[in-house]
Amino acid sequence: MTLNTQGRPSAAGTAEIRELPTISGDRGLDHEEPLIFELGRKGVTGVDLPETQVSQDRLGGQKRKAPIGLPGLSEPEVIRHYVRLSRMNYAIDSGLYPLGSCTMKHNPRLNEKMARLPGFADVHPLQPQKTIQGALELISELMRWLTVLTGMPAVAMSPKAGAHGELCGMLTIRAALEARGDRRKRVLVPSSAHGTNPATAAMAGFTVDEVPPKGDGHVDDEALKAKLGPDVAAIMLTNPNTCGLFEPHIKEMADAVHKAGGYFYCDGANFNAIAGRVRPGDLGVDAMHINLHKTFSTPHGGGGPGAGPVVLSKALAPFAPLPLLVHDEKGFRLIEDRGDLPEGAKPFGRMCAFHGQMGMFVRALAYMLSHGADGIRQASEDAVLSANYILASLKDVMSAPFGEGPCMHEALFDDTFLEETGVTTLDFAKAMIDEGYHPMTMYFPLVVHGAMLIEPTESESKESLDRFIHVLRTMAEEAKAGRTARFEGAPHLAPRRRLDETRAARAPVLRWKPKGLPHAAE
Ligand SMILES: *Cc1c(COP(=O)(O)O)cnc(C)c1O
Repeated sequence: MTLNTQGRPSAAGTAEIRELPTISGDRGLDHEEPLIFELGRKGVTGVDLPETQVSQDRLGGQKRKAPIGLPGLSEPEVIRHYVRLSRMNYAIDSGLYPLGSCTMKHNPRLNEKMARLPGFADVHPLQPQKTIQGALELISELMRWLTVLTGMPAVAMSPKAGAHGELCGMLTIRAALEARGDRRKRVLVPSSAHGTNPATAAMAGFTVDEVPPKGDGHVDDEALKAKLGPDVAAIMLTNPNTCGLFEPHIKEMADAVHKAGGYFYCDGANFNAIAGRVRPGDLGVDAMHINLHKTFSTPHGGGGPGAGPVVLSKALAPFAPLPLLVHDEKGFRLIEDRGDLPEGAKPFGRMCAFHGQMGMFVRALAYMLSHGADGIRQASEDAVLSANYILASLKDVMSAPFGEGPCMHEALFDDTFLEETGVTTLDFAKAMIDEGYHPMTMYFPLVVHGAMLIEPTESESKESLDRFIHVLRTMAEEAKAGRTARFEGAPHLAPRRRLDETRAARAPVLRWKPKGLPHAAE
């Protein structure tokens, strides 16, 4: 152990993992924290409320008979509870978050400031439209940026996430096919696709036909073309693909599907690698969702809701869902029902109750305006540069299946370098937590064995990347040298160790049941 005089790890950056039980059960400044229901006591409260004066009970016998069973805590106890829980969390604001495909980049505080302007933050979706002209203009301006950046003529703003956008796009394609009396149902999806792609196609009533990858990580364009036929409704391709590679034959594949009478759905979640450099419209895309929460840095994951606007080609634009936003001499106007449609519009329906994620629209436009066109292009280029730096710096110790490079915005490794070490991709990723890093994306894409997908994004400095590379290189060398203690059962230093994640997802315990208390919140 090499501690310097201040008791901090030495400049060499080493600290020891030691099992030293504490008396309190807490670890340093990180506290073990029970559920709030376990903390609460009867008769304690942080507020004084007057006795209620209900003059007349109008509940028709439905009135609660037992106490409600809310936990009783004082205000400082409540504050401590939530602060302690928040300290168990990892966030892009606390460290590098290399989760490939998820694009965890810095959320500029300017965006947050704009989103909190009262005129945007307090706007209500049922407000009269003449009182929200500024908000509608903002949506319209964002639509303009999205159509210019993608080279597509139309955009549907209401989808609330990438997957929701996929559904919107595929329902638009279904409506276009139905409008021409076409019963095509087969959708071609590469095996490297994000799981949401086949799920979306199936939910929208299509059948999914898988397209194999080529050995170089690209979609097998010949296999795709061979599968085309009069029953193919669409292809769903991701570009850059989930191996972090640009599909060189994308235009040919688009032309081939169009020739066969089908549509080209592009999963645009990776748009942050090419924004400002490539316009999907020029590649022949008919529909593509854009994850505002990835490319244009609105908080996501635990940090906020997503937003997945869908850009549409000329062929699909008439089928875009309601509401439609129009601008005429009377100002901006949301068209909400079929009685009021502009010429040629044939909306397939609607995706959600209101108009989309206003707060995310404000943040995304703030990001665009503060970067400008040249800045957006620079962000994409820097994201690609960061990923190539990672690939080039790690590929001699970690195995990179398509390591000849260059890659786009993410670097893909597989588990060949861990062969015969007894360490798995899961062990390796969990050991990163002890090093202060969120793990990379694991076991996705499925086309390589034990995948580790690293997306550093443009918001990391070279110093930050160097430190990360040093840690991963050393971990890989340790594993290969047979020094595997750090990987066994990792993480060792996190508030929780290995969880049964499958069980947590399949059989979540969502309701706390008091032990032996009569007021079970039934
Ligand atoms: C993130 C992502 C999606 C889904 O987006 P959500 O907003 O999480 O629904 C789809 N495809 C790819 C390639 C992605 O990275």
